[in-house]
Amino acid sequence: MSTRVKDLIREEIQSLNAYHVPDPGAMIKLDAMENPYHMPEALIAEWLELIKHAEINRYPDPAATKLSAVLKTYMGVPENNSSANGSMNSIILGNGSDELIQILAMAVAKPGRKILAPEPGFVMYNMIATFTGLEYLGVPLKEDFSLDMPAMLEAIKTHQPALIFLAYPNNPTGNLFADNDIEKILNAAEGLVVVDEAYHPFACTSFMPRLGEFDNLLVMRTVSKMGLAGLRLGLLAGPEKWISEFDKIRLPYNINILTQVTAEFALKNAEVFEQQAATIREQREWLFNELSSFKQFDVFPSRANFILLRVLEGDASEIFAGLKKQGVLIKNSHSAGGVLTQCLRITVGKPEENKLLVSALKKCL
Ligand SMILES: *Cc1c(COP(=O)(O)O)cnc(C)c1O
Repeated sequence: MSTRVKDLIREEIQSLNAYHVPDPGAMIKLDAMENPYHMPEALIAEWLELIKHAEINRYPDPAATKLSAVLKTYMGVPENNSSANGSMNSIILGNGSDELIQILAMAVAKPGRKILAPEPGFVMYNMIATFTGLEYLGVPLKEDFSLDMPAMLEAIKTHQPALIFLAYPNNPTGNLFADNDIEKILNAAEGLVVVDEAYHPFACTSFMPRLGEFDNLLVMRTVSKMGLAGLRLGLLAGPEKWISEFDKIRLPYNINILTQVTAEFALKNAEVFEQQAATIREQREWLFNELSSFKQFDVFPSRANFILLRVLEGDASEIFAGLKKQGVLIKNSHSAGGVLTQCLRITVGKPEENKLLVSALKKCL
């Protein structure tokens, strides 16, 4: 490496590996928690008509006013806080929830500040902590993937993290943390607690109605897992006093016009996406039962659109490679180590894809 690069680029950045996404080619893609369905043809035609008139020669509405209003209603953001101070709730939009995590981190970043999250968890919490010069603290989950409350409360007391992220349900384990554990964390933490509800369409439970009940609660959502991952659109909801601070560091045109127009259109036709989510939830149960019938696997119940399993007999990496050879791409979580040793994560696909996966698995074992 040139000495100029070595001298100039922060050491923690030099030691990072770029976020790697494998090229799926023509494979059945069950690795990234995507919704396998596109919109129906008739809706695509209607959408293309709208896109025709999108003024891409102009800057988009910097506040994405129309889309924000639609999202606020659709995501069920309560108008007022239920707490005594009675302040308003507000939202900020991001280029995916990834950007919102980055905005949160930038807003609190100063030397010594920390981000805390349970481990294993969503990798971006850790990565963005590094990008923004924050320290990351991962608190191991218990064997059953529930929160280790004594360890969480101890870490909160000792380290006073500025931000705590709780994915609800958690990625990659798929379970929901207990509501009363989350409440205890909200009460114990001096910093902000972000409940990340990326998998809300499949979990059907939420902290959104409780915004304002805790001064430090924020709720994050995304349209990615509901079927619009290509748009890059996330939302952070919470008390106006917090959101208005984050909005100061949001880049002015972070939600492009095609995303604004498309997301607004999609949410006006939300029943299409809700139907798809319902099918995925049914398929999740089908796949859970099928996978559980393999005596070689320990399969973990999921409230998301993916299933984590542990290979008890055989080798996870060999099974991963065997599936890949047969044109099925899943996620090999084994290399993360710890409780993920010998674990594979499978996104729920279309019925025919799930069937193909199961028969491909049989050939690997
Ligand atoms: C997939 C995922 C996200 C992704 O968000 P984007 O809106 O696509 O950036 C956020 N949080 C968790 C826990 C996820 O698994």
